[in-house]
Amino acid sequence: MAEKPQPVQVLYCAVCSLPAEYCEFGPDFEKCKPWLIENAPETYPDLIRDANEKEADKVSEQLQSVSVSGEGAAAGGTSTTKQEEVKRLPGGKIKKKEKKEVVIEKVVRNKRKCVTTVKGLDLFGVKLSDASKKLGKKFASGASVVKGPTEKEQIDVQGDISYDIVEFITETWPDVPENAIYFIEDGKKVAAA
Ligand SMILES: [Zn+2]
Repeated sequence: MAEKPQPVQVLYCAVCSLPAEYCEFGPDFEKCKPWLIENAPETYPDLIRDANEKEADKVSEQLQSVSVSGEGAAAGGTSTTKQEEVKRLPGGKIKKKEKKEVVIEKVVRNKRKCVTTVKGLDLFGVKLSDASKKLGKKFASGASVVKGPTEKEQIDVQGDISYDIVEFITETWPDVPENAIYFIEDGKKVAAA
C-alpha cells in the first residue's frame, strides 16, 4: 500500500521561516546556512562537507598562527595583540546541539557492497561496541564501530539490514523509542515509525 515513505513533519527554518528544503531559494541562503547545518544536515549534505572543509582550513590556520606566535614570543613578544586577533577571527567554538535520534543509512560502496550505517545509539546510553556485536550476531554479518565523516562513531553493518533493524533496535534497547529512529533515503531523512 505505502507508495511513498511518510516524510518527517516539515522543518521550518528559524532564519527565513521557509521549509528547510526551500532555504536555498529563499532570500538569504547564506544566513540560513549555519542554522541548516545544525538542524537540517540531511537536507543539505553539501553544507556539512563545506563546513568540514572550512573546519580543516581553520585548524591549519590555527596551527600556522601557533607557529607564528612561537616565533613572536622568541623575538620578544610584541606581536601578541596581532595573534589574538587572528585567533579570535574564526569565531570560537562551535556549540553543537544534538538531537537524540538514531539514524540508519544504507550505503552502497564499490557498486555491489552494501553497508548499513547506524548512528546515534550512543545518545541513548547504548555502548557502541556492545551494539556492534549484537548487530553482527543478529544479522550474521560483519559489524564494526567506525568513525563517520564528522568524527563521530557509528556502527557499520555489512549488507542491507535496514528492513529488520528497527524492530531489533527497539526490542534490544527499549530506551530507544521507535519515533526517534530515522532512515536516510535518497538524501532525505524519513521517520521509521
Ligand atoms: Zn532558511
